[in-house]
Amino acid sequence: MKTLLKLLLLLCVSVVSAQKFVITNVTVFDGEAVTDTISVLVEDGVITEIAKTITTDATTVDGTGKFLMPALTNCHVHAWSNDALTEAAQAGVTNVLDMHGVEMAQGMMKSLKDSTNYARCFVAGAAATAPGGHGTQYGFPTPTLIKPEEAEGFISDRIAAGADYIKIIVEPWKETLSHETVGALIAAAHAKDKRAVVHISKAEDAKKVLENGADGLVHVWWDTLISTEQLKTWSRNKDCFIMPTLLTSQLVLPMIRKSAPEGKLLSDEQLEQQVKMIYDAGIDILAGTDPPNAGINYGTDLYKELKLLSKAGVPNLVVLKSATSLPAKYFPLGKTGSIKEGYKADMLLLNASPIQDIDNISNIAVVWKDGKKVR
Ligand SMILES: [Zn+2]
Repeated sequence: MKTLLKLLLLLCVSVVSAQKFVITNVTVFDGEAVTDTISVLVEDGVITEIAKTITTDATTVDGTGKFLMPALTNCHVHAWSNDALTEAAQAGVTNVLDMHGVEMAQGMMKSLKDSTNYARCFVAGAAATAPGGHGTQYGFPTPTLIKPEEAEGFISDRIAAGADYIKIIVEPWKETLSHETVGALIAAAHAKDKRAVVHISKAEDAKKVLENGADGLVHVWWDTLISTEQLKTWSRNKDCFIMPTLLTSQLVLPMIRKSAPEGKLLSDEQLEQQVKMIYDAGIDILAGTDPPNAGINYGTDLYKELKLLSKAGVPNLVVLKSATSLPAKYFPLGKTGSIKEGYKADMLLLNASPIQDIDNISNIAVVWKDGKKVR
């Protein structure tokens, strides 16, 4: 009996100590900047101290030669099942932002937020679209609207269904919402303290929705190059973001180019040039890949998007921000996306620096979510 008690006590002690660890002598990207040879203490899933040296009885993880950064957020997914959340978590993507889905299934996916093996799922619920518009073709019931007078009711319904933010679709190659209705939706979302983000595919629509106060665009336009100077006038001095989804565009556009009703679309190189001009205009860039569109996965394919942003000329430090601290600036992701005291210990320990070479983002030694090892 005594031996059993001792064994139980030992087990308890090891469980408790697993909740407390310090990573020493590591290079840290905290979501903003990089600091060399520093220590990070994690207790009960939270980062509690960051200092040159930390005196503690916690388990030590030697970070010598390694790179510690916040775990990743994929800002544009369509998660149809829990498996998507597992695939994301395994790749170090601990937050995913769903941009149009089945509201009835989303409550269950959101409830997995505290489980180590699943990425936290944040949702827009059903996107706002016109009857017969983009988003209505997937075979599940999708609410639609037409007039600005319907905007307030539409937004209230999404919030009642659990939406964390609002997604709106402007896609003129099908039936689509008028800019008057889009403006009313954005205003109604903001009145309820929710961000409003918009799907566009044409530059003209991008300009209009940003002028109407949209917080961000969840794709880049495909039709024409917009100069840095022009872009600077679009945001009306308000912080806003553009999510280029370059990987999605480069996989989907070859098919669309053949049947494009309006002829020419930007080439892959021009899309990359456009992303650099967006960066030069001071507009925030967010990383998203839009899985499962074009066969893109929920996990490791996000590394490809980061690589494309880097190739486009966005500095690697800013590329890392696009999938860590910047998503948390625009979406209600709680205390995630940064390695700072008081933040959740959602972290990646890499074997080499992705600032030196963005490919190192895939060279992962450990993934933690809430201070617990995912892998
Ligand atoms: Zn999408």
